Amino acid sequence: MRIVKCFPGGKFKALTLSYDDGKDADRKLVEILNRFGIKGTFHLNSGLLGQNGRIHADEVKSLYQGHEVAAHSATHPTIARCPQEQMVHELFQDRIALEALVGYPVRGLSYPNGSHSPNIRAMLPLLGFAYARVVGSTHGFGLPEDWYQWQSTCHHNHNLIDNAKKFVSFNKTQYLYLMYVWGHSYEFDLDQNWHLIEEFCKITGNRDDIWYATNIEIADYLAACDRLQFAASLEFVYNPSALPVWLNVDGTVVEIKGGQQVWLA
Ligand SMILES: [Zn+2]
Repeated sequence: MRIVKCFPGGKFKALTLSYDDGKDADRKLVEILNRFGIKGTFHLNSGLLGQNGRIHADEVKSLYQGHEVAAHSATHPTIARCPQEQMVHELFQDRIALEALVGYPVRGLSYPNGSHSPNIRAMLPLLGFAYARVVGSTHGFGLPEDWYQWQSTCHHNHNLIDNAKKFVSFNKTQYLYLMYVWGHSYEFDLDQNWHLIEEFCKITGNRDDIWYATNIEIADYLAACDRLQFAASLEFVYNPSALPVWLNVDGTVVEIKGGQQVWLA
C-alpha cells in the first residue's frame, strides 16, 4: 500500500499570496483576486490603520472577508533592532488589535522590513504565531521547511508570469507544489503594472486543479496532515483534528474527516 498526503480534494497544487502594509491599493487587489477565486493573506500594521493611505480599521473585516488578516507588527519597526520587550509588544499588540477587528485568532506574521533573528524566531511560537514570511524569492514550488522563515516563490515583479506558466503546467502528481507570491499592492500603482497581476490571475485563477488558500490555511492543513495517527500496519488511520485531510491511497483519493477513523486496506 502506498499512502501520500494531498491538498484538499486530492489536489497536488496550492496557490497563496501574501501582501503587506494594508495600503488603499489592497481594495483593488482584493477585487481582482475575488474575481478569479484566488486567496491571499494581508499582513497589517494595526497601529497605522487609517494613516498614510492605509485601509481604515472599520473596513478591515469586510474588505478581507474570505482572505486572511495577519500581523506585520503594530507600527512597522525593524524588530531585530528593538529591545526584546518592544518586539513582544509590537507583535502581540498587533495580534490583539487585529483580532478585535476580524474576530478570529490572528496567527500569521510577515516580518516588518524583513527583519528577524534567531531570538525572534524562537519567540514566535510562544506569542501564538504559526508561521512568519521572510523577504526574498526561491523561484521554487516546495513547501516551507522552516515555518518561521517561510520563503515565497517570487515577488510579483520577479518572473511572475513565467513562474505561473510553469506552475500550471506541472502534472507530476507524485509531488506537492506550492506557488507563493508576495508584494505590496501599492507597488502596482507605483510601477503602473496592474496588468501583471490581472494576467497572473487569468493564468492561475478559477481552475479546479489548484487549491486556493491563505497562508494560515496551508500551515493548518499541513499540521493536520502531520497529526494523523496511522496504525503500524497502515490498515487504518485516525484524524484527531477538526480539519478534514485528504490522502492518496494506491491511486485513490480518500478523505479523512475530522475526528474520524478510516480503514485504508
Ligand atoms: Zn511592510
